[in-house]
Amino acid sequence: MQATINPQTTLKKHFGFDHFRALQEEIIEGVLNQKDSLVLMPTGGGKSVCFQLPALLLPNITLVVSPLIALMKDQVGALKANGITAEFINSSMDENEQNDIVQLAIKGEIKLLYLSPEKLLGLLNYLVNNVKVSLIAIDEAHCISQWGHDFRPEYTKLALLREKWPSVPIIALTATADKITRRDIVKQLTLNEPNIFVASFDRPNLSLAVRFGIKKKKKIEEIASFIHARKNESGIIYCLSRKATEEMAEEMLAYGISAGFYHAGMSSEQRSKIQDDFINDRIKVICATIAFGMGIDKSNVRFVIHNSLPKNMEGYYQEIGRAGRDGLPSDTLLYYSLGDVIMLRNFIEESGQKELNHEKLNRMQQYAETPICRRKILLAYFGETLEKPCNNCDVCKNPRQTFDGTLLAQKALSALVRTEEKISASVLIDILRGSHRKEIIENNYDRIKTFGAGKDLSVHDWQQNIIQLLNLGLVEIAYDESYMMKVTEFGKSVLYGKKTIELVKIEKLESFEPKKKRSLEIDDTNDLNTDLFDYLRGIRRHLAEKENVPAYVIFSDATLKELVDKKPIQVSDLLQISGMGEFKIKKYGNTFVKEIKQWLKSNDVKAPKTDTFMETFRLLNENYSVEEIAETRQLHATTIYSHIAHLFSKNIVSSIDNYINQTEYNIVKEATIELGETKQLSPIFQYLKEEIPYHIIRLCLAKLEKEKNE
Ligand code: ADP
Ligand code: ZN
Repeated sequence: MQATINPQTTLKKHFGFDHFRALQEEIIEGVLNQKDSLVLMPTGGGKSVCFQLPALLLPNITLVVSPLIALMKDQVGALKANGITAEFINSSMDENEQNDIVQLAIKGEIKLLYLSPEKLLGLLNYLVNNVKVSLIAIDEAHCISQWGHDFRPEYTKLALLREKWPSVPIIALTATADKITRRDIVKQLTLNEPNIFVASFDRPNLSLAVRFGIKKKKKIEEIASFIHARKNESGIIYCLSRKATEEMAEEMLAYGISAGFYHAGMSSEQRSKIQDDFINDRIKVICATIAFGMGIDKSNVRFVIHNSLPKNMEGYYQEIGRAGRDGLPSDTLLYYSLGDVIMLRNFIEESGQKELNHEKLNRMQQYAETPICRRKILLAYFGETLEKPCNNCDVCKNPRQTFDGTLLAQKALSALVRTEEKISASVLIDILRGSHRKEIIENNYDRIKTFGAGKDLSVHDWQQNIIQLLNLGLVEIAYDESYMMKVTEFGKSVLYGKKTIELVKIEKLESFEPKKKRSLEIDDTNDLNTDLFDYLRGIRRHLAEKENVPAYVIFSDATLKELVDKKPIQVSDLLQISGMGEFKIKKYGNTFVKEIKQWLKSNDVKAPKTDTFMETFRLLNENYSVEEIAETRQLHATTIYSHIAHLFSKNIVSSIDNYINQTEYNIVKEATIELGETKQLSPIFQYLKEEIPYHIIRLCLAKLEKEKNE
């Protein structure tokens, strides 16, 4: 196929995608018009294409600054898998290797060069004098800001880029959206009246669920069965401490789940080994502290579980965001307990910025406790409004009921007042439930009026209710006084009957059915389809091992799923599949088509028919020329023209004036009149002394026919 400058065609040809995602097209247009840009898009939103595609269309090289070595390697690997010339330079390479790559850049033999900021700055003067640069992309641009969550001092020196290459456009990209960071990026990189794009931070393919106050043993059981229900799918379990990651991995192994752990206390070799095993699907589950995830680009992480409450919404959003980057349905599940809250509050007390961090944790707790759609709360936190409930969170699926909780609150508040607000939540629960534990008796707590007044509720239910009282602001925990619970002014007004409160009914623990839904169910009723998925996954793994790249670099799960749905048995049919670019079709097309045929045969399944006319139509719509279509479909151009004539007569194609001119049309029209309104091609062809080709005659006849009918 010929070179083309149309971004849409380039998208299909080189990346295999049929449509741009939200904002990608506008961003690319701005970049191609030499504008500076700032792009804020969630993880998985599709930032890379925004500079990778312009890189292909611009005359010279695109420099990409990226802080994470592993990511750099993966991105370059993925580009190469699409037949795009790209390289990276980082500190893991020796001088010779680095020099070889610089030479390629000088010779203009690569379209993209990825560099760590240190390397770029180190080579800056040399590059300025020797390499022609068309575009500079700065990935993870929030690293420039001290306000961001991942400040890297070397990023601040990137302002030099503008000085050295004053006329080269810069595109800065990040998944961190807050306004301060945003302003800081523009200022520090001296972006010149940049186009600023803020994508929605909604990730509708991620399901959201929260489970409260589950005992450890039961929790582990639940997690194991959740994972068992997701055969062949991988995910991350985030834990609060290093020790917890190791324990969790051990628990999972005991359930026969292949799991490893990852935390900052391990050597860097150990860490990269486990990361590699995970990326290459050698282990299914990674139990990790939040140190894990920054540098991984695995697009088919199907679930993220939080073993305990994250300390703020930013972290939570980022961690769940590691699931489902390929856009396929993925699940997230958060466990939390009163104990988590107390522990986190304790950490905060010992840290700087106490007030801010307590507030952030409050917001996190509100999310975990919300009686309304969780996605609404999550997006509201990032300044977006979701109009309708999402239907993909546990609250939407199982709406909460409320009740008048005034009496219940009064029982608890009264017990607190009568113990002079000197007890913790667990003692309070013991009093309410009438426990005869030593501490209760010794302190004469069994004599107070509300002793045993809450016997009817379980410990779990009381914990959940107390959390609600905390969230509603009736009580506070004094972290500096051994977690004693204090009644607030608002609490007092409820206690003395001046105000009433609504509480959310507590969910029955049994209502959780981890096995109910499998995220990658292709077709509930058809096991065969799932089999084909597994079968193709096997082929993909085999190719990946042979080429020593992660499996998703060959094809994403989304692409495999489409192969399963459409079951293409001709290489030309592959053009319909998202993720199938020209290069990958050439490289793997035959293999996959052959394997699909083989699978269909051995499972006695009929291949779906492709509608040859519609296939031509689809390609026309993607702006392929007739010659290009003929080439990819391995048909004659005349056949394609006959398809077009057919599509036109069926009103599918609205005009064919591009293919015929008025003179030809008039000549053919006269010939048909002369020959007695014939619709046969060959008499006309002969009559016109073979001067007008068959396919033109055919098109003219189609047009004549239509005009007659009109
Ligand atoms: P980000 O850098 O924003 O986290 P990526 O650039 O890695 O996101 O893209 C996430 C996933 O979406 C990748 O698997 C990528 O191939 C895919 N993707 C990007 N753009 C498109 C598109 N227009 N159509 C389909 N898939 C896309
Ligand atoms: Zn919802």
